[in-house]
Amino acid sequence: MELRITFWGVRGSIAVSGARYEQTGGNTTCVELQVGDDRLILDGGTGLRALGEHLGFAPVRATLLFTHLHWDHIQGVPFFTPAFHPGSALTFAGVPRATGTVREALAAQMRPPTFPVTLDRLIGARTFLDVPRATPFELGAFRVTPLEQDHPDGVVAYRIEAAGRSVVFATDCEHRPGSASGRESFAAMARFAKGADVLIHDAQYTTPEYRGEAGPPRLGWGHSTVEDAVAVARAADCGRLFLFHHDPTRDDAGVAALEAGARLAWPETFAAREGASLAL
Ligand SMILES: [Zn+2]
Ligand SMILES: [Zn+2]
Repeated sequence: MELRITFWGVRGSIAVSGARYEQTGGNTTCVELQVGDDRLILDGGTGLRALGEHLGFAPVRATLLFTHLHWDHIQGVPFFTPAFHPGSALTFAGVPRATGTVREALAAQMRPPTFPVTLDRLIGARTFLDVPRATPFELGAFRVTPLEQDHPDGVVAYRIEAAGRSVVFATDCEHRPGSASGRESFAAMARFAKGADVLIHDAQYTTPEYRGEAGPPRLGWGHSTVEDAVAVARAADCGRLFLFHHDPTRDDAGVAALEAGARLAWPETFAAREGASLAL
């Protein structure tokens, strides 16, 4: 049995389109994991729409597990075609926050005046599940361990084990280089990701961008630099690192340049690109 990973959306913050983004892809966060007939979909950004188009208007059984509920992680849900099929059995899962649950955030997104179709029309969405933020749980073939991260309104990274393989999905996390809380966060992530076959890590900014040497300072915006992602992969001795949550301003040449630079420090580094699929 293999664990298959497919990237349907790799962009952060907002979807982008145009010739400059063709090789990397413009859709926001959505990563599909498959083991046999079990399907776990990580986040429902606009990439989820593309996955829905691929699956078609057909009965689908899957769990959608959300890291958090920012737009770029939920906007594909109203366009996920299998959710409209009466034969689908979809579970929507995530950590409840003081600002609301997954169900509440999805319902708020799908109501007037911002959207014409309400959440109850997603007839295939059978179950809404609150998951713990600090203890492991199981979703079908997948054993999931959450780790709370530094991000506005909170986010969890997930370590997912299935078929004897391990994937760490750490998007929208900030390690605040140079601060005590940042050192703690970095060390916790390095322990969490230890020996993972694949680490998918936020790499939205370059260090000059993060520091405000190119545009506004991004301290506290909840994202990592490419250097942070590489440092975690090295410290945790992960198999492969995928740079993820590309900034909307980062075109194909920019992504390729970051990837090439990161490989000098960690050869098994790849930029996550939409449509890429790998089997572990
Ligand atoms: Zn995001
Ligand atoms: Zn976010």
